[in-house]
Amino acid sequence: APRGTVALSARGLTKDFRGFRAVKEVDLDVAEGEVHALVGPNGAGKTTLFNLLTGFIKPTAGTITVHGTDITGKLPEQIAHEGVARSFQITSLFDNLTPREHLELALQGMAGGGMRFWRSDRTLLRYRGRADELVEQVGLTALADRPAGELAYGQKRALEMALVLALDPKVMLLDEPTAGMGREDVERTIELVRRIAAGRTVVFVDHNMHVVGSLAHHVTVLMAGEVLARGTYERVRTDPRVISAYLGE
Ligand code: ADP
Repeated sequence: APRGTVALSARGLTKDFRGFRAVKEVDLDVAEGEVHALVGPNGAGKTTLFNLLTGFIKPTAGTITVHGTDITGKLPEQIAHEGVARSFQITSLFDNLTPREHLELALQGMAGGGMRFWRSDRTLLRYRGRADELVEQVGLTALADRPAGELAYGQKRALEMALVLALDPKVMLLDEPTAGMGREDVERTIELVRRIAAGRTVVFVDHNMHVVGSLAHHVTVLMAGEVLARGTYERVRTDPRVISAYLGE
């Protein structure tokens, strides 16, 4: 597992929803280049923590830093500007645009400071090379010119991963990258995340322990909003508190 510089850090992170404390004084340190899994039973606070780390919701208390820069309370676009990008569980693709067009628009939007929905062919051509690389990286070259609406579920998720990669983030947050996938797509996604994680910091939520064990250098187990255990997969897997938390699900 990588050591050294801390890429993403949280201290005392707390979130209250109308008096209900969904995340309680969570400390988190993710080293640069590390693949870090957030796990825990339903309602443990994983999604809330994800939303806090990416600025989609603001913490009640606590601080978040990215490579030493305090991003607490910043807006999602400001946090994205610090090099943090996330994927979503819910698909956000345009059915009538192809994977290549999605990526060209994303690359163009980054250069222009926002997603634009008009296209000048000459401008898009500039992004074609990079778009092709990204399509290839996620294994969609053969489908690069098909409307996204025709892609299978696993292929759509791969395209979403490419859209996150297009941002060239320092820290990538993946929300349940294998949710709803069959065995083959799960294996493909593990390989894909392994490839794109090389040289990058990745934090992901996943319910599939095979995925967590295959990818994560470190695991943080949440339970009722608190850190129940942390360490390597092997270590948390055999932690009696973790076992009883999962048996109680
Ligand atoms: P997980 O992703 O681990 O399943 P969540 O972060 O979605 O857990 O939820 C943690 C707890 O916070 C749950 O009890 C959930 O009902 C509650 N919660 C999440 N979002 C809200 C909200 N917007 N308002 C009120 N309660 C919420």
